[in-house]
Amino acid sequence: MSLRACLIAVLLALAPLPCLSQQMPSIVWTPASLANGSPCLFAIQAPNASAVTGGWQGHKLSFFRAQNSWYALAGIDIEVAPGNYPLSIEITAANGTTQTLHRDITITAAPYKEVPLSVPEKFVQPDAEALKIIAADKLVKNKAFSSTAPEPLESGHFSPPLPVAPRTDSFGTRRVFNGTLASVHRGLDYRAKPGTPIAAVNSGRVVLARPLYYEGNCVILDHGLGLMTLYMHLSKFKVAEGARVKRGQIIALSGGTGRATGPHLHLGVRWQGAYLDPAKLFSLDLPTPTKP
Ligand SMILES: [Zn+2]
Repeated sequence: MSLRACLIAVLLALAPLPCLSQQMPSIVWTPASLANGSPCLFAIQAPNASAVTGGWQGHKLSFFRAQNSWYALAGIDIEVAPGNYPLSIEITAANGTTQTLHRDITITAAPYKEVPLSVPEKFVQPDAEALKIIAADKLVKNKAFSSTAPEPLESGHFSPPLPVAPRTDSFGTRRVFNGTLASVHRGLDYRAKPGTPIAAVNSGRVVLARPLYYEGNCVILDHGLGLMTLYMHLSKFKVAEGARVKRGQIIALSGGTGRATGPHLHLGVRWQGAYLDPAKLFSLDLPTPTKP
């Protein structure tokens, strides 16, 4: 071997080889194309990480571990305008070093419709007495919304609360009540005769189970990390506040209480104040968190 070739061989041997731990961790989200009202599951492959956190649309993302990947369930509120929303992810390695990744995520506009509806006038123009109840309800709901667990309480996928198909296009429609008031429908409606058993869509904790003005008899389940599900217009409660429930457990019977056009179940999905399409949540393939 010539001196030159020998030198090159030595230099090559000394050169740092790209090693696996320095590879950029992959970031994947489902669904791949996102619109307002959609839930979103982020998956990061970072088997050597000790913690993963992130930020998106002003929300903090809390990741949980499932085998070699880290997952965060997030979402885009129905009122979010289309555009590019930068995502930043911070990965902390076992030795304490951190790595920050950035992605631009495009959010498109979902084609939600406008529908006229008729409800009793007291729900469109509430009187002074009703306004007092509505204000008190707001405090009770805010307390429930702020009591989310710091770890995931859900276990695997979410499943529908009833074995029937929901009313098509019911999520996201702009509703014109009695020709005057417009509001966005932030949930999915299921046809249900009064007294139909309603199942928890995943495991969690009951943070609210009581009558409210608009929602009627209402149950709110916390699934941890800011994700909650809301069940409205119920006739009867089968769980009490504070109880732990499993996916599929009967939590209430359906009814037509509160601001309802007739007997049905309204199911809401709320993540850190954003309202998401429940049907899209059911289609996400969620892993079961690895117990620490
Ligand atoms: Zn509804």
